Amino acid sequence: MPTKPHILVIGSSNTDLVVKVPRLPAPGETVLGGDFASVAGGKGANQAVAAARAGAAVTFVARVGDDAFGRLSLEGLRKEGIHVDYVVTDRQHPSGVALILVAPDGQNSIAVAPGANAHLTPADVHHAAAAFRSARLVVIQLEIPMPAVQSALELAAHHRVPVLLNPAPARPIPTDWFRHITFLVPNAKEAGALTGIEVTDPDTAIRAAARLRHKGVAHVIVTLGDQGVVLDAPRLHKHLPAHRVHAVDTTAAGDVFCGALAVAWTEGRPLLEAVHFAQAAAAISVTRFGAQRSAPTRAEIERFLH
Ligand code: ADP
Repeated sequence: MPTKPHILVIGSSNTDLVVKVPRLPAPGETVLGGDFASVAGGKGANQAVAAARAGAAVTFVARVGDDAFGRLSLEGLRKEGIHVDYVVTDRQHPSGVALILVAPDGQNSIAVAPGANAHLTPADVHHAAAAFRSARLVVIQLEIPMPAVQSALELAAHHRVPVLLNPAPARPIPTDWFRHITFLVPNAKEAGALTGIEVTDPDTAIRAAARLRHKGVAHVIVTLGDQGVVLDAPRLHKHLPAHRVHAVDTTAAGDVFCGALAVAWTEGRPLLEAVHFAQAAAAISVTRFGAQRSAPTRAEIERFLH
């Protein structure tokens, strides 16, 4: 068995507190809810778990609070075999939580308190310098402060480690970041926000991807839900349809895609094959409920592909 590639994920860790309600309450109204679930989430932690299950050695850099949610999150990540020594326990701010109400028709109402995630500092990122030295890829999203993202990009450039940026949630990106990004993986909404092009289908995604590549990104992969992905890379402009599955919950599909793509690419697979692998992982995840817990194992992805 070859040694697993080392992937460094820098990002958020949240706990999603989900209540099923008969309908979303109006302002000032109380509705009696049904089932409650507390599930591990946060784009950073989701991508770390997806990559670990898909077969990488993962180091995670994040901030959690000194509270039960933080301890549970860390315990969950450790169980996945993720290296969490660089996850800082913040004694001033609580762990990030999302309060989610879900109606029977799938409509939801969400309030996020980022808590400790909003206090991840450049110093926290620099503290993990040793992990940058051995990583084959750095994976980042935008649920943490921009100065922390900037430090991660700088350290990755210094150590010549490629970077996968999932620009989620959508927010403006400084122009000088683009040339430091090896893989930019936005969904349709984020690609639209970054380019001003309304992305609704493969054609509009191809236009948006070309515009992003023009800004200096080496490879752009726009994910389009059940329409698959559009890939724009040197000598490679392609729409790759999604695997056909019966979707029951698309939460974290993009996170599972990014985590699995990171693994397949760092194992040295050609990009088209890596995207195929990542789409398989994401397709499996949408057939299951939940965020982190919907991420498939390596064996499940391989079975799906054979
Ligand atoms: P996000 O979760 O960030 O909004 P997308 O919805 O674009 O991301 O999904 C990411 C990837 O997950 C897609 O490119 C596709 O490969 C896979 N995917 C998402 N929804 C489905 C679906 N209904 N059927 C099959 N694959 C899906």
